[in-house]
Amino acid sequence: TQPDPAAGAAVKAADRAHVFHSWSAQGLIDPLPVAGAEGSYFWDHDGNRYLDFSSQLVNTNIGHQHPKVVAAIQEQAGKLCTLAPGFAVDVRSEAARLIAERTPGDLDKIFFTNGGAEAVENAVRMARLHTGRTKVLSAYRSYHGATAAAINLTGDPRRWPSDTASAGVVHFWGPFLYRSPFHAEDEAQECERALAHLEDTIAFEGPQTIAAIILETVPGTAGIMVPPPGYLAGVREICDRHGIVFVLDEVMAGFGRTGHWFAADHFGVTPDLLTFAKGVNSGYVPLGGVAISAEIAATFDQRPYPGGLTYSGHPLACASAVATINAMAEEEIVENAAEIGERVIGPELRAIAERHPSVGEVRGLGVFWALELVKDKETREPLVPYNASGAANGPMAEFAAACKRGGLWPFVNMNRTHVVPPCTVTEAEAKEGLAALDAALSVADTHTHA
Ligand code: PLP
Repeated sequence: TQPDPAAGAAVKAADRAHVFHSWSAQGLIDPLPVAGAEGSYFWDHDGNRYLDFSSQLVNTNIGHQHPKVVAAIQEQAGKLCTLAPGFAVDVRSEAARLIAERTPGDLDKIFFTNGGAEAVENAVRMARLHTGRTKVLSAYRSYHGATAAAINLTGDPRRWPSDTASAGVVHFWGPFLYRSPFHAEDEAQECERALAHLEDTIAFEGPQTIAAIILETVPGTAGIMVPPPGYLAGVREICDRHGIVFVLDEVMAGFGRTGHWFAADHFGVTPDLLTFAKGVNSGYVPLGGVAISAEIAATFDQRPYPGGLTYSGHPLACASAVATINAMAEEEIVENAAEIGERVIGPELRAIAERHPSVGEVRGLGVFWALELVKDKETREPLVPYNASGAANGPMAEFAAACKRGGLWPFVNMNRTHVVPPCTVTEAEAKEGLAALDAALSVADTHTHA
């Protein structure tokens, strides 16, 4: 497509007049008008093309405009656009079958939602009804969505403005060795102390009051902290001992992102409920859901499940999920994520960390990586203070602007940049993006004490 700045200006003018944006002070934002996208790239109306190292909101796992998924949506639109959830229909049955086939253990029943937050809402409802208990434990440094229960479960500043004390949510610390809440010196110690802390939290809250523990298998927006070996198995054991439902939130980590279909596969752990969204169909049509264990599903065999959505299992969304999962299997896209992560992204990020005083730690797996930017590698003082805004966040804003000038669209959160390209990213694209990242980090370096 030819650049058309006038068209871009018109799009932006109507946006600023009428679109109310998420998470934003409406008067202070400057959204980029996007003209199109394909694969790992998108472009604006002025002729600037960006390599998308954010996968939008870490959801375009299969890249933009995958022809098989586009064709499946078009075909389904020609056949049947919508159908109430009470009916059975081929694409919904097939999407559920393909998902259940891939989820760990006996998570064989699928409740469909429109996205991740609704999946979390329904997982919590199922856990409460199944156990007859109210409280839910979740981790600091987590994100579970922006609806009522999901935002209360969230363990970062996005919760603060929407916090309601009545939600029955208790937060605890999960493992994160680089900024260890337990002053641990190695992963084994971090794991042991994190599990002991969880045990203590449960003891003092009263195990008989706790319906569920919810964790992101690998926390995403909060920093991509891969849990130490044994941690998730330890949580599983604690849940079993106290009759607590174990919920793994795989909205961001699922569907190939970590180099397995589900991040839980890395740890050999099966939760009782698993929430998904994003990568299930790369967000081509809104879709999420809960994969449910046989035991919890049985709770609602004779007793109605008191929850539903007009668009649960929407045919266009399900058709895109079927096409996405089949394409990911046929084209070995999950294997690509694992391979590029291990062979290209991980090693190059570690080399970048050696070159730049601003990179304190590199961590991740698959196409799910975080760089912790710091003022000082020794003290680990973050490049910007926790939850900084305005001028205090200047160094990160400058770094992000430098990425964009270099043709790279970064994912930036607090003092971190995440490297989260589509699972389809090629070696050449990964190298191109890492070179742009390398160059932009020189800007971050100017804000260090080095
Ligand atoms: N859970 C996790 C782990 C997420 O990363 C997100 C979104 O980023 C959500 C839940 C919420 O999903 P949605 O924005 O589709 O409601």
